[in-house]
Amino acid sequence: MKLSARSDAYIIPEYSLTGDLLSFLTCNLQYRYQNRGTLPPSMPVQLWFGEFIHGVMEEAFLEWENTKKQFPWDWKEDVRPIEDMIDLRLQVRGLYPPKNHFFTTNSPDSKITSDDINAHDHKKLASARAHEAINTWGPHLFPLIDSAELLIKGLRNMPNYDEKKSRSNYYGINGVIDVLSSIKIDETIGNNQSILDNYTNKIIEFLKKDTDFQKNISEIDGNEYEIIIDYKGMKRPSTSDKTWEHHKQQILTYSWLRSKQEDAKPIVAGIIFYLNELVPSYEDLQSMQIEIENDQTDIEIGEEDFDKIMNWDKTKDYPQLSDELKEKRSFRIITINEDEIDNALEKFDAVVYDIEKSIIDERDGCNIKQAWKAEAEERTCNACDFKTFCGNEKNKKKNFKIP
Ligand code: SF4
Repeated sequence: MKLSARSDAYIIPEYSLTGDLLSFLTCNLQYRYQNRGTLPPSMPVQLWFGEFIHGVMEEAFLEWENTKKQFPWDWKEDVRPIEDMIDLRLQVRGLYPPKNHFFTTNSPDSKITSDDINAHDHKKLASARAHEAINTWGPHLFPLIDSAELLIKGLRNMPNYDEKKSRSNYYGINGVIDVLSSIKIDETIGNNQSILDNYTNKIIEFLKKDTDFQKNISEIDGNEYEIIIDYKGMKRPSTSDKTWEHHKQQILTYSWLRSKQEDAKPIVAGIIFYLNELVPSYEDLQSMQIEIENDQTDIEIGEEDFDKIMNWDKTKDYPQLSDELKEKRSFRIITINEDEIDNALEKFDAVVYDIEKSIIDERDGCNIKQAWKAEAEERTCNACDFKTFCGNEKNKKKNFKIP
């Protein structure tokens, strides 16, 4: 009797929009080591802060939903307990805070308890940004949120499927989003107008001024619609930076995934919050100068802020930019339309194809550095653990000291 062989397990590769696609686009080889090889970075400043600020905003929303506590929130009383909780959650996952960005009371050798903490000694950059993000956007954003932390998933055909080589005929794509709804927007305007005549919700004001957004809502049937939001723990990218385009594609892909869910309403826009803009660092201000000089920013800047940035004496304190500029730079609207979505999906298919190709090349015997390209921007390379051996030509010219 002939026994049939057990068939291979049918596995559909799953890709997360931020964890896989954006990481791969940042640097193929770094993605291979860090994400696929699960070699966590030794200085995970960007990764840690991205996760931290997402967690803080989500928890702050839940807290506000339960207590409806009035803003502004006090750092020590209201924000620090949330920071502590998120820090602990990240440490459990092996993500430890960079010392000069965040003061942790969760490490075993920390002699300071949450009761002893004070803003002067312990409120470092990440805490300042978390505090500012909650108090700047919380009052305007939280009342509009309809669904928080919504998991969106979808399946797409594997690009250039090859029966002999490809790992599967489909690939899965997923992400987590917050959704604002027109119902909540109407409710918020209604509730507040009856209490306060001069109530202005800054998010609604920004949306009212956006002509593409207004055009989109005038074209939908009925008056129900949705807006997708995402937080980024980074500065607003310059318009010439490839990240600028990648973020747009990410939101468009989210909107496609969300539109496939049963309870979805038409999605008319996406909003990205670049939360580092609320408390810019030295490097952020330097980049801002370069962007203004080279006309690589989409945000108009007033005369006073322009002078402060362009005539900044770097030996002295940072210039204090106006709240108006910081808010404008931290808020970005992405217009959603069918053509743009198709275009974004095609681009993401192409990225998945590249990732799959590298995986297959490696599986077929190619060595890691041949299968995955080492190419990234200087800022990424400077903070990368693999720069001494990755083979990137620019890094070869630098003189690294190996301890
Ligand atoms: S140093 Fe730069 S090019 Fe090399 S692996 Fe790291 S990010 Fe990629």
